[in-house]
Amino acid sequence: MTSHRTPTPAQLQRWDRRYVWHPFTQMEEWEQDPPLVIQSGKGAYLYDTDGRRYLDGVSSIWLTVHGHRHPDLNRALRRQLDRIAHSTLLGLTSPPAVLLARDLVRIAPPGLTKVFYSDDGSTAMEVALKMALQYWEQRRPRIQPKNRFLHFTLSYHGDTAGAMSIGGIDLFHKRYRALRVPTFTAEPPYCYRCPLSLSYPTCHLRCLDPVAKLLKTRHREIAAVVIEPLVQAAAGMITAPPGYLSKIRELCTRYHVLLIADEVATGFGRTGRLFACEHERVTPDLMAVSKGLTGGYLPLAATLSTDEIYRAFLGRYDEFKTFFHGHSYTGNALGCAVALANLEVFRKEHTLRRLQPKIRALSRLLDPLNTWPHVGEIRQRGFMVGIELVQDRATKTPYPLADRIGHRVAQEARKRGLLLRPLGNVIVLMPPLSITLPQLTRLVRIVSASIRTVTAAA
Ligand SMILES: *Cc1c(COP(=O)(O)O)cnc(C)c1O
Repeated sequence: MTSHRTPTPAQLQRWDRRYVWHPFTQMEEWEQDPPLVIQSGKGAYLYDTDGRRYLDGVSSIWLTVHGHRHPDLNRALRRQLDRIAHSTLLGLTSPPAVLLARDLVRIAPPGLTKVFYSDDGSTAMEVALKMALQYWEQRRPRIQPKNRFLHFTLSYHGDTAGAMSIGGIDLFHKRYRALRVPTFTAEPPYCYRCPLSLSYPTCHLRCLDPVAKLLKTRHREIAAVVIEPLVQAAAGMITAPPGYLSKIRELCTRYHVLLIADEVATGFGRTGRLFACEHERVTPDLMAVSKGLTGGYLPLAATLSTDEIYRAFLGRYDEFKTFFHGHSYTGNALGCAVALANLEVFRKEHTLRRLQPKIRALSRLLDPLNTWPHVGEIRQRGFMVGIELVQDRATKTPYPLADRIGHRVAQEARKRGLLLRPLGNVIVLMPPLSITLPQLTRLVRIVSASIRTVTAAA
């Protein structure tokens, strides 16, 4: 240790720029300004080292559920810490891992019966992909390999190699093609910029036609369809029309293709239900959860599977049907303990019931922006909102990415005490589910003022 004194805010800012390489960040730009150092949080607020307060408008990148420093979650962590921080699930088990798995199976879409733990959204998706491949190999040995995935363009499933293969955001994924396996892709139902130039709602889900065609002609090769149910989040909160997900489920069943639902962003109340799949009574064959699983406290993830898939991995040891996959921290006791407390708070505080009026309030508060000249579309599904800003409302002409319009809106919002992280030209609102109505009102007021200021000057 070089010093026992608490570092000053200025020291932290200097050392950050000297030592830390930040995710999804142009570091040359980062180095130009002193970074905002968050020291603490409470509820929907974050506090910097100077004691300034900010509303956490994106739940610390889509994680926080019941607010920061929730007493029940804190208590659960402290209790677990007094027992043990971690013991392995390779050859052993632990109370929090067992109890959380049981709880997850109880609340998940019916038919999902087994829980495989990992560390984050990306690894939960890697697990789902590997399970799907091995499932088909073990179920139908010697038949033509069923080992390709069908996913959507603009999709995002994480940054590890397998997850990138099924990712469709060129800016993030294209450069790493050497790490990616070939896949089938379909256009997502991006109604505002319909790739098929159909008009909603008279299109009657014609956007499914290309997916149906691919499945019809190539289903023998396709192991699974991978989807972000209801909302393609990182693509800019692209919301699917009602019925889309359940039709995808039907197609997968008809053509004997697995459905992998990536509920990493949508899970744990974000869409107004515990899981997005519930809105259309869909049970996927594999489901990945992470972000909200621990209420935003610790990295933990799970891949849930059906009995049907699980059973395909059973056999004598020397049949080698084992799922040879695991991580050092799989089923981490602290993570599972806090996740259990997180789920308990949903029940105790009636989080989902109390969320419904706030979802409606959020729509109401945002409604006036719908006529603004630079607001192209406001997409909302529960507590997931994307406001797509455009240069010209009539022609839907996007702002050039280099204009950094979203970034500038976020900078304005920060001055006014709200932290945001946009996706290109899309302003994202993902407040903690526990945000109060007055806080939500303030959040929208700040967003509105920030958009007005930036677009008037642009
Ligand atoms: C964030 C995200 C992931 C990746 O999760 P990480 O924890 O960042 O690895 C995967 N899928 C979706 C839909 C996500 O939003």
